[in-house]
Amino acid sequence: MASPLERMPLAERVEQLLAPGGPLPIVAAGDPVLRNAAEPFDGQLDPALLARFVEALRVTMRAAPGVGLAAPQVGVPLRIAVVEDPATVPDEVRLARGRVPLPFRVLVNPSYEPVGTARAAFFEGCLSVPGWQAVVARHAGVRLRASDEHGHAVDEPVSGWPARIVQHETDHLDGTLYLDRAELRSLSSNEAAAQRWAQPTPAKAAQALGFTLP
Ligand code: ZN
Repeated sequence: MASPLERMPLAERVEQLLAPGGPLPIVAAGDPVLRNAAEPFDGQLDPALLARFVEALRVTMRAAPGVGLAAPQVGVPLRIAVVEDPATVPDEVRLARGRVPLPFRVLVNPSYEPVGTARAAFFEGCLSVPGWQAVVARHAGVRLRASDEHGHAVDEPVSGWPARIVQHETDHLDGTLYLDRAELRSLSSNEAAAQRWAQPTPAKAAQALGFTLP
């Protein structure tokens, strides 16, 4: 049953959400907002409110910290996400995972399609599934189509770790969590992942935990 807050027009709900200031509460798995397709953004928030909302997403993502955050993760069912990855990782990790820095950007109504057939499998996590990580095989490269926060069209190839981030965040807008695509036998607590599976690739984890890599 929808709460009174859920029945309010979106702009009013966003105003209320932003009122306290600072990082927004992140919705955890189990909330239906993470399992329903979000509405395409079509001016539901006026430009000033959209700018404030995007800033709040950025503040929340950085505070978490995370490398991406989708609007449904703060309870707002709109097709908007932010991404940013400083990629402060050792060189061998950067090379193996293609983890290159991704400057802050806003994705409005994003979609992706695979470029080529190559897949890449690595551990990833989600701010809405705190405490856990799992290996997900994803398209190594995608064609990203979206708008930016000013309504300018984006249509570009994305590869490496940024392609993983784009797929993860866009999936959120379709009600898909990374666990839906994960090798469940790879599921590891953050502690186990840090202690055992910090290698550049999950080859050792695949052997020890019993799952296959593409
Ligand atoms: Zn996520």
